[in-house]
Amino acid sequence: MADIRNIVILTGAGISAESGIDTFRDAGGLWEQHRVEDVATPEAFARDPDLVLRFYDMRREAIQTKAPNPAHRALARLDREWEGGLLIVTQNVDDLHERAGAERVLHMHGEHLNAWCTACDTRSRWTGPLIDRPDCPTCGEPCLRPDIVWFGEMPYRMEDIYAAMRGAHLFVSIGTSGAVYPAAGFVRDARSLGAKTLELNLERSQRSGWFDETRLGPASELVPSWVDEVLSQQN
Ligand SMILES: [Zn+2]
Repeated sequence: MADIRNIVILTGAGISAESGIDTFRDAGGLWEQHRVEDVATPEAFARDPDLVLRFYDMRREAIQTKAPNPAHRALARLDREWEGGLLIVTQNVDDLHERAGAERVLHMHGEHLNAWCTACDTRSRWTGPLIDRPDCPTCGEPCLRPDIVWFGEMPYRMEDIYAAMRGAHLFVSIGTSGAVYPAAGFVRDARSLGAKTLELNLERSQRSGWFDETRLGPASELVPSWVDEVLSQQN
């Protein structure tokens, strides 16, 4: 651990699940008889925008009733106290890392609390519904959509993620199933770039075999103890 200075962390649904945010997979992949893939694609939005906006309005409202858990708070503490490089790449679209106090966070799949204007390409903080086609605060056009990376769209800021990975000495994956690319490939990329790799997960994932070490258990227990360990070796 002494030779570790730069850390890249990937977080997934498992860390938010303990705050009561259900995942597509937990829900059986269905929403009101629609496959989630059918409400979370650009094609679905073009075909039936009301359905898609309703789905995201509901999820945007739901996450605002949830609170960060000890795993989010431990990562926020790491962010405050770790003197080396750190990037928390999250696949989650909630704001629980930020509400716990973390700042070095990158949302590769977008954010529920942003709206993206397809007329002027600006993003605005958005906490209310979009179903009534509110005007964009920047250009005034009623062209806001959820700022979420849908199936078939390119994740955000991949260049920034790979730049951090190239300098990383440790890559840690927390609460991800390893099912969704490109994030599922990060562990292999990190290894080939020379980083140590650690997985913290509730159960073995599809990618467990690719990590140097896997620790199994709830994120709310594993993450605080790992953060204690890392910070104690910094001092
Ligand atoms: Zn606009």
